[in-house]
Amino acid sequence: MASEAGGRHDTAPHAQTGARPLPAGAAAASRPASDAGSAGAKRAPSPLSPAGLVTIEPAGYPVEIELVYAGSNNFICLPIYAADAPCMLHPDAAACLMRAAVAARRAGLTLKIFDAYRPPAAQEVLWRICPNPAYVADPRHGSNHSRGVAVDVTLLDIDGEALDMGTGFDDMREQSHHDRPDLPVAVQRNRHLLLGIMLQAGFVSLPTEWWHYELPGAASYPLLDEEGVLLAE
Ligand SMILES: [Zn+2]
Repeated sequence: MASEAGGRHDTAPHAQTGARPLPAGAAAASRPASDAGSAGAKRAPSPLSPAGLVTIEPAGYPVEIELVYAGSNNFICLPIYAADAPCMLHPDAAACLMRAAVAARRAGLTLKIFDAYRPPAAQEVLWRICPNPAYVADPRHGSNHSRGVAVDVTLLDIDGEALDMGTGFDDMREQSHHDRPDLPVAVQRNRHLLLGIMLQAGFVSLPTEWWHYELPGAASYPLLDEEGVLLAE
């Protein structure tokens, strides 16, 4: 809603960071991404979970979070995570996420997170419902979400409205693939904007899902079974 930008008058294109101030720690993330894997160590250390994950919260990261699997607004129309499941990432991915979120704000946009760390048990639930390896990782091999190094995102405009990406999150049609010449110009532009923000922050993309980004070499990170991240009953 526009109310999030209330009181804002600097709608000129040179506006640098969007309507809301950056959280503490975000400034450090504006440094170049040349040290993508280790930049997190330069910020004030966040307390890590038992499995070594960082909790991503809007108080510390300039993002919006709607974990779609913590509710029913997903392709199976049922919650998989507990309603209060935290948004978590490996520290390396959290450092890249911070850079991406700051870059988005510089462009007058906000990064919105749909999914991040996913417990292996949740991956098994998803696989039982959708055993399609083009969209859901076989839990025997493990999802990079369960390694804490994958994140599903989109971009919001200055009024908090999602940019048109052509398909919704977890829309398992070919229209969700990158490099689709049949999509409208605005969709092409929006997807490339997200792609650029995420690549410069140190992530890599997946050909089949415009929303999915992960660290290079993601499979080399261990699968993590975070205690206390409960699944929906
Ligand atoms: Zn994903």
